[in-house]
Amino acid sequence: MIRGSCLCGAVRFAAKRGSGIVVCHCSMCRKAAGGAFGAFFVALRDEVTWEGAEHLSTYRSSPTLERAFCRQCGTAMTGANLTEPDETIILAANALADDAPLRVIAVEHAASKATWAGDIDEAPHFDGPYPGWEKLKP
Ligand SMILES: [Zn+2]
Ligand SMILES: [Zn+2]
Repeated sequence: MIRGSCLCGAVRFAAKRGSGIVVCHCSMCRKAAGGAFGAFFVALRDEVTWEGAEHLSTYRSSPTLERAFCRQCGTAMTGANLTEPDETIILAANALADDAPLRVIAVEHAASKATWAGDIDEAPHFDGPYPGWEKLKP
């Protein structure tokens, strides 16, 4: 079972199977995911069970596409699904549990990568919190 949940735990999904993960750098996915990129995978709609789905809100990001997120904590739970649902559903990989077996297979809209995230690999990395937070000023 592939499990995911939002930050507050009100909404959970479990999918029997999932595709590989596609990362999207487009500005809509960045904003919807609340991060440097969106990350999504595909499941079969009738193989997905939801808990707390009544806490989902939806946003129509394009005339025919709709995204769902937890209205209590804002976590993106689905990608841009067709408003006329087909047999598949796009789920948000950011909601996945740490032991999820899925891995990234492709990166799309790479040219739209956030300019602010361009040097992320060169920045110093810490296993715990950044020790400079308290002294950080603009
Ligand atoms: Zn939540
Ligand atoms: Zn996108």
